[in-house]
Amino acid sequence: MKKTASLVLAVLLAVCCVIPAFAIQFPGVKKLSDSPSFGAYEHVFIIGIDGAGRFFKEADTPNFDRIFANGAVKYDVRTEVPTDSGPNWASMLTGVSYFKHKIHNGNSGEEQRDSSTKYPTVFSVARAAMPEAELASFVNWNNVNFGMIETDIGVTEHQNGDDNALTDDICAYFDAGNQPAVFFTQIDLVDAAGHAHGSASQEYFDAIHTADGYIGRIYDALVRNGLLEDGLFIVTADHGHTIAGGHGRFSMRESLTTIAAAGKTVVPGGELDKDTRDRDIAAITLFALGLDKTNEMSARVPGGLFEDTDGERRSFFKDPLDGIISPVMWLVTLLTPDH
Ligand SMILES: [Zn+2]
Repeated sequence: MKKTASLVLAVLLAVCCVIPAFAIQFPGVKKLSDSPSFGAYEHVFIIGIDGAGRFFKEADTPNFDRIFANGAVKYDVRTEVPTDSGPNWASMLTGVSYFKHKIHNGNSGEEQRDSSTKYPTVFSVARAAMPEAELASFVNWNNVNFGMIETDIGVTEHQNGDDNALTDDICAYFDAGNQPAVFFTQIDLVDAAGHAHGSASQEYFDAIHTADGYIGRIYDALVRNGLLEDGLFIVTADHGHTIAGGHGRFSMRESLTTIAAAGKTVVPGGELDKDTRDRDIAAITLFALGLDKTNEMSARVPGGLFEDTDGERRSFFKDPLDGIISPVMWLVTLLTPDH
């Protein structure tokens, strides 16, 4: 009798404690690559607005607003320090921190990068998996094409120092029937306005409004060529600007930026989770195309972005230096007054 009672108790305990524990663990055990969004996209378009930081929210941006009305946006994404173009575009393209890729404004203009690098860009990862795919990068600042994207993997590269003409070139490229798996562009005028007038000036917000017009033209070119039915459209920036103008250091205005995404499985009205970093664009891009990250990447797919996908945990051990120094740098940011 006693034995039967013990058995019943044990079974009850199992039902009450053990089974729920497993049930709780199962979602965490699920592989990210099992989610329907993994590989749901044929194309990823990354539109980079140099120097626009977190300030899309404060500017008049009718195109940004219509494009991401049903998208997911985060306006306070942490950038790499130094809060400069080189470190940040390189982190977005490689999915590793500045401590690893060590690409800055100086060396990206001097040292051409090729596929022998330890930290490949998403272009290189895509090329390895898709030998025939079209890949393209159209930039104003040529350091991206010269010193970041590997020059020996057959990426269509184009440079134009006039953003309006660059946008014409981009639209003509899509209207000619090109269908890149990965497309990157860097538009420069907002950074120029930030340097000249600072991030609290009317000139700066006018420049973001002008850039918004370019974003709208690129988006419309993609729509009319049917490229967004299976396309993920991302708008981002590499850093912001101080009130006085300039960047490179720690203040909030310099070191927060925007990631906005629209696509068929993006959470409508979603917000990317609080751990999102700008380097995560590499993880998002590869995930959307159904490609695995490289072992070196500390980029992660954020929560709040894809309807069917929980956020990944960022591995401390892939980049312990970044894991230790990043929280310290964030403390410095919190203590640095806007200037
Ligand atoms: Zn700048």
